[in-house]
Amino acid sequence: MSDVSTQCTLGIVKPDAVASGRTGAIVAHLQQAGFTLRAARLVRLTPAQAARFYEVHAGRPFYNDLVAFMTSGPCLPMVLERADAVAEMRKTIGATDPAEAAPGTIRKLFAESKSRNAIHASDSAENAAREVAFFFSESELAGLWGG
Ligand code: ATP
Ligand code: MG
Repeated sequence: MSDVSTQCTLGIVKPDAVASGRTGAIVAHLQQAGFTLRAARLVRLTPAQAARFYEVHAGRPFYNDLVAFMTSGPCLPMVLERADAVAEMRKTIGATDPAEAAPGTIRKLFAESKSRNAIHASDSAENAAREVAFFFSESELAGLWGG
């Protein structure tokens, strides 16, 4: 976006963390970790949207519970930018299960459990592009920053 050396990734503050009032702390943690917030919006996903967003997991034993959880309340999709954003974001959020997440990671600090784990992050540059486009249009992203 603003610099060729930077990259964008998609994060979501999940419904558990929004409901428990941790949205601001999580965004602040990401900004302190060097990410620039490029876009964000509170949304309540429909079951169809949540199923499509996590369609790679369709058929897994936790899939129906995951869709139910992601539609249980508002969440905050956001576009985050920094150098090596996809890999750095995965490091910053920590392992899927907070019990296995490294000290100081967002999931260690804020997640309740493996299923209610506070935050999503894209796992590849290709998926980051798909997931950013899932929530934010090119014109919205450009318009936010005066493009
Ligand atoms: P996310 O995609 O949300 O960033 P992740 O990449 O760390 O998480 P995935 O393997 O993509 O983990 O799983 C997607 C989400 O599904 C997890 O974040 C978690 O909420 C849920 N999930 C994954 N595995 C399990 C499991 N074994 N039991 C319960 N929930 C699970
Ligand atoms: Mg994942």
